[in-house]
Amino acid sequence: HYFVDHATPDRVQADLDSGRHDPHIPEYKDLAAYRAEGGYAMLEECRTGQRSVEDVIDEMSDAGLRGLGGAGFPAGKKWQIVRSFPGPRLMTINGDEGEPGTFKDRYYLERNPHQMLEGALIGAWAVEAERIYLYMRDEYPAVLHILAREIAALESSGIIKKGDIELRRGAGAYICGEESAMIESIEGKRGYPRNRPPYIAEVGLFGRPTLNHNVETLYWVPAILEKGAKWFADHGMNGSKGFRSWSVSGRVKKPGVIIAPAGVTVNELIERAGGMEDGHDFKAYLPGGASGGILPARLGDVPLDFGTLDKYGSFVGSHAIVIFSQQDRVVDVAVNLLQFFKNESCGQCTPCRVGCDKAVALLKKDEWDGDLLSELAQAMRDASICGLGQAAPNAFVTAMEFFSDEAVPDAGGPPARY
Ligand code: SF4
Repeated sequence: HYFVDHATPDRVQADLDSGRHDPHIPEYKDLAAYRAEGGYAMLEECRTGQRSVEDVIDEMSDAGLRGLGGAGFPAGKKWQIVRSFPGPRLMTINGDEGEPGTFKDRYYLERNPHQMLEGALIGAWAVEAERIYLYMRDEYPAVLHILAREIAALESSGIIKKGDIELRRGAGAYICGEESAMIESIEGKRGYPRNRPPYIAEVGLFGRPTLNHNVETLYWVPAILEKGAKWFADHGMNGSKGFRSWSVSGRVKKPGVIIAPAGVTVNELIERAGGMEDGHDFKAYLPGGASGGILPARLGDVPLDFGTLDKYGSFVGSHAIVIFSQQDRVVDVAVNLLQFFKNESCGQCTPCRVGCDKAVALLKKDEWDGDLLSELAQAMRDASICGLGQAAPNAFVTAMEFFSDEAVPDAGGPPARY
């Protein structure tokens, strides 16, 4: 409650006038510090014609930059697609970061907000977006405060005009991290995901072609332009390209954001997180927050990147890794995750609204009905409007696949194939 009004214009203006720095705001690189290190030089090169739009898009494509909110869509291609639809166009930035276990965007915004803002302005320049709407999670009060201050500083410096970047506060709904629900929310409506097509690149915010990006995706843009596509691409491993920011939590000694190559394995991430906590043996992990299923420790050497976990019915999504030990029951984890989806389902479509509810009831039984749960999972995946309902079954499907002894005790359960 302390932070509730932090990002209001009055409060920020009062802070600016007084020169006060709120003690609860972490030390971060402000505009002056960022510019002193050469910040906004890449934006300047774009705006003054030293770089063409085509060159910049090629750099993003060669770097292999992908959407790091979870979908992994190639950034350069997205810029091209948005440009292909007639203007006027808009841009949105998704700072909702609601996927359980994910905290990488916060990490960057509390330290170096301008690198993301510069990336956003370069993206807006590339697709000729008239305005940027920055949708920020209200549960990150310090970030809201920082962004309000720094957007005001950008306006005062003349780098942007007043109103070029509009900061919007989310209201705590997980579903508003889904891009079309976020757009509905910005438009002032209830956050219901839209049916596709049309995709938001064509009909997005206020009906206009819209470029939407996650915070971290934009964060890498100025660095890629400055250091080159090859610099970024070469940092991948096991056939993947680029850096990723892994939010690692659970039973490790040092949970936190770990910047490591795309294609790293969970065993390596545990090592970088200081190893397992004392008294805990690695048993299972969530590779992609609540949505990407539950995998066993014996798959700890699989390279983690978009697409590498498809054959296990799993995915990395927002790269949130949660580690479990022999002291945790996978069955409890699955119930907890489905309870989360039940709470956060927007209720718009039946397969998800009723499906999540039914799944929780079935998972709470002493013995899981594998056949019924598999049928339910199929219906939810096939018929849900958005990714929430489609991905919710991953938790119990993978639990049945890899932890059949725990999940379906007497029925024997489906055999563990891997
Ligand atoms: Fe809403 Fe769930 Fe349907 Fe998505 S799948 S639109 S969250 S009810």
